[in-house]
Amino acid sequence: MNAPYLPSSSIWSRVNRQWARFSARTPISVDLDHAIVSFSFDDFPKSAAIQGAQALEDHGWRGTYYASAVFAGQLNHHGEMFDAEDLHRLEASGHEIGCHTYEHLDCSKANVSDIMQSVEHNQSALKQMGLTQDMTSFAFPYGEATAASKRLLDERFSTLRGVRSRINRGSVDLNLLNSVPLDGGPAGIAKAVEATEALILHPGWLIFYAHDVQENPSEWGCTPDQLRSVCDAVERSGARVMTIGDASKEFGTRSGLTS
Ligand SMILES: [Zn+2]
Repeated sequence: MNAPYLPSSSIWSRVNRQWARFSARTPISVDLDHAIVSFSFDDFPKSAAIQGAQALEDHGWRGTYYASAVFAGQLNHHGEMFDAEDLHRLEASGHEIGCHTYEHLDCSKANVSDIMQSVEHNQSALKQMGLTQDMTSFAFPYGEATAASKRLLDERFSTLRGVRSRINRGSVDLNLLNSVPLDGGPAGIAKAVEATEALILHPGWLIFYAHDVQENPSEWGCTPDQLRSVCDAVERSGARVMTIGDASKEFGTRSGLTS
């Protein structure tokens, strides 16, 4: 099993990351009187498709699964990864399948034609596995974006998600949505619960992202009980839970949310 790839933490990369945040934006004004929460799972492990989906479905909710087709049927640091059966079951149960790059390409290190090829490859590979829905939501692997990749993917998808750990409120960039991780052990999960509780006084659109959902999770995963504790906090908050695709459609039609 190869060691997981980690994006660069050099000063140059940090400057580029900042620059990407402020460029090629598609801003909307998120001024909600009733909070929205979306759960997303990246890559995605089989445990997210089974234990993760079960935790959401027990509350009557559905999530967004950002798939990288290269992982299908593989075993990696997240454990066993999704397969065609998981895709079919999730889709039939009303979950959203979102797009990642095919080989989990770091978009800050690739040129636009490689990114486009990777996205198209991913879409066609998932269709070949039996996916029928059109993918309208995209997540940048590692949350790594550039102005050029944001511009490119803005034309293909309704939303592009990053990994900056904030609630989406006020002026929000649909080309790099914030999202709060469901990882980091008890301290990380406490932060996710705090973010949920903060919605009660200051509503916004809170997106979570998770990876594996299993006992003894990876560094980027959580346990089923931890996910359930976040779900319980969301239930207590009274927030509406919807997939990222459904939430973005809602934003298009609501007054008070303008692009
Ligand atoms: Zn990913």
